[in-house]
Amino acid sequence: MGLRPANRLSSEQSPKSKLFLLKININTEDKHRYNSRLKSQLRVFFMIDKKVLISGGGIAGLTLGILLKEKGWEPLVIERDTAVRTEGYMMGFFGTGWDVADRMGLLSDIKKVHYPIDYLEYVDWNGDPHFPAVPIERVRKAFRGKFAFLRRPDLEFILFNRALASGVRIRFGTTIQSIKEEENGLQVVFNDGTMSAFQLLFGADGVHSNVRELIFGPESQFARYLGYYVAAFHTPNHDYCIGRSLEIYEEPGRIAWFYPLDANCMDAVYIFRHDNVGYLPHEKRLAFVQEQFDGADWIAEDTLKKVSSSKPIYFDAMEQIVMPDWYKGRIALLGDACGCLTLTAVQGSHMAMAGAYVITQELERYSGDYQSAFTTYQQFLKPFVDRKQNDAIRFAGQLVPSSRTKMVFRYPLIRLIFNKFFLSHFLNLLGAKSILVNYS
Ligand SMILES: Cc1cc2nc3c(=O)[nH]c(=O)nc-3n(C[C@H](O)[C@H](O)[C@H](O)COP(=O)(O)OP(=O)(O)OC[C@H]3O[C@@H](n4cnc5c(N)ncnc54)[C@H](O)[C@@H]3O)c2cc1C
Repeated sequence: MGLRPANRLSSEQSPKSKLFLLKININTEDKHRYNSRLKSQLRVFFMIDKKVLISGGGIAGLTLGILLKEKGWEPLVIERDTAVRTEGYMMGFFGTGWDVADRMGLLSDIKKVHYPIDYLEYVDWNGDPHFPAVPIERVRKAFRGKFAFLRRPDLEFILFNRALASGVRIRFGTTIQSIKEEENGLQVVFNDGTMSAFQLLFGADGVHSNVRELIFGPESQFARYLGYYVAAFHTPNHDYCIGRSLEIYEEPGRIAWFYPLDANCMDAVYIFRHDNVGYLPHEKRLAFVQEQFDGADWIAEDTLKKVSSSKPIYFDAMEQIVMPDWYKGRIALLGDACGCLTLTAVQGSHMAMAGAYVITQELERYSGDYQSAFTTYQQFLKPFVDRKQNDAIRFAGQLVPSSRTKMVFRYPLIRLIFNKFFLSHFLNLLGAKSILVNYS
């Protein structure tokens, strides 16, 4: 590169002092590149308008909103739902997610979230354990204490409250209808017909991203179906005896997880193999899941039958998003929108937060030169996400047993993995170490 800042610049520095720090080193061949780069840097240094739009108020979008606001940008987060979502599922929070939360000062809030889950247990048709229950404390120790069970809405509420306290503007019930890129920014039309101008746009709107669809084209180009469907819901006032355990019940082709949220309420997650049926309307989803668990033993079929069809359930195909590029012009994607890992990686929220962190750092490093920032963001993060997606595919093959014979060999192996001598090693392979340790 012919022109680059000699030092990392902080947003507090005045445009003049930033210019003073520029180190110029060009030859004739670089002249054209140098000129356009200089123009873009000058534009950013003197940029008065720091308005950026974030589509999606989930983990990625809220994290990005908070971090950009701290660096002096003016983010507007728009969320399709009318409030912070309450439906969701339990997530293992550790590694990179823990690291970003630590850098953001969120750990004290995260540590306040408690669920009465002390054991992990694989049970048979009668609810009896296949092998002695694994204490969650063993898992926590293997993560050196840097582990929490969090429901997705817990993390979203923590981020939402921080975003509000930081002065991030959030508009619910809002989506983007169209985007037009112009020389000096973007013109965005919202679903209520209003129009606004922004310097940058971030698509943090999940696996079925609207921004991705509008800018990069149909989801089908990027979707990699892993062969499963997932459903999750709350079961208040249940009368099942699951104690203080995350209970895993499995049959060939279908599995169910149950865990307590408090003395009366539990969450249930159902995962089953199925061909891709494409989009399924909301009103047909519960019946579809019930059909797949017809005749299932233990509490699996029974719990599903008692679910009220009026309650929202989480339901989706298990699908990764694999894209060659995560940005185009002034628009970048992050989180599940560009690199969905699926639940089999148990790190989607971590990568969503890492994406937000790296984008913010790179915009700061390049003083708002979004082209360089987005390039470096992708160069740094995408190889990690690619690797985790490949790991997730391998793991997905083992997630649900395909036959009773395979189940016979399955439990001794799982027991070995959770053995205290092997667990740390396994968790290191999984991603116990933050990908940001050497990133500054
Ligand atoms: C069952 C299950 C278990 C999981 N377990 C784990 C785990 O243990 N650990 C882990 O780290 N990850 C886990 N994950 C993955 C993790 O939940 C996701 O990777 C993470 O939520 C991605 O965050 P995101 O912000 O990118 O997307 P999302 O969480 O999908 O958020 C996107 C947001 O955008 C909004 N939105 C959508 N469309 C629009 C639109 N058109 N306009 C405006 N807003 C829009 C949505 O309402 C939502 O608020 C699990 C996932 C599942 C399904």
